[in-house]
Parts: sequence; C-alpha cells; structure tokens
Amino acid sequence: MKIQRVGTQPSAKGPEEYFTSSVRVDMMFKAEEPGRSSAGHVTFEPGARTVWHTHPLGQAILITSGCGWVQRDGGPVEEVHPGDSVWFSAGEKHWHGATPTTGMSHIAVTESLDGKVGDWLEKVTDEQYKKA
Ligand code: MN
Repeated sequence: MKIQRVGTQPSAKGPEEYFTSSVRVDMMFKAEEPGRSSAGHVTFEPGARTVWHTHPLGQAILITSGCGWVQRDGGPVEEVHPGDSVWFSAGEKHWHGATPTTGMSHIAVTESLDGKVGDWLEKVTDEQYKKA
C-alpha cells in the first residue's frame, strides 16, 4: 500500500504541445507495474483546452468543477458539468477543455500502452472551439 499525501507533488504546467492556453496538472497517482493506470487532476483556465488527441486504451474524465466542453471527431461540442463523466474509446480522436468564459477541472484516468498514454495531434482552432 502506498499513500501519496497532498502537497508532496509539485503542480506542473500543461505543456504547449498538448494544450492551448493555461492548464495546470496535479498528478494524483501512477500505478506500479504491472498496473498501468494513472490519474491527474487537470485545471483549465477559461479558453484553455487540449489539442486533438487519442489514447491507446481510452480515457475517463470525471468533471470536478466549473463548466467544460468536450468533442469527439465528427460530433458536436458538448457541455459537461461537475458530477458528469466522459469515456473516450481507445483511439477515438477528441479534445476536452474549459468553456471560453468559465474554467473547468477534471480528473483524467488513463492507462498506458507500452509506456504511452496518448498521441497528440493538431491544435483545436478558434473556429472549431465554438458551441452550436
Ligand atoms: Mn483525452
């Protein structure tokens, strides 16, 4: 058993290759081998979002605060709220983030495949970052 205490892990800034605008990532756990799951609490400032990406084994996001937008490739932009969860299937191209006016936090639960949790693609353009 391993307890990871709050405040022992520094917050990280979401890297520019993966995110647009200001994002903070607080890693909550990373499983020991042979486990391959990990979870991070991700906080998006208004307007911030991921780039388009996929996860080799899928991903769950659990919305913990604020108001967010999610979209799968070919689908509409959908709004999500605290208490909602979203499952992205393995290989499904998608993005997630805040709305333009309200920040959003979620816990992201992801499993790695051969050490990789995602493939990071092109940015979500301002044209795409709109709700119909
Ligand atoms: Mn994702």
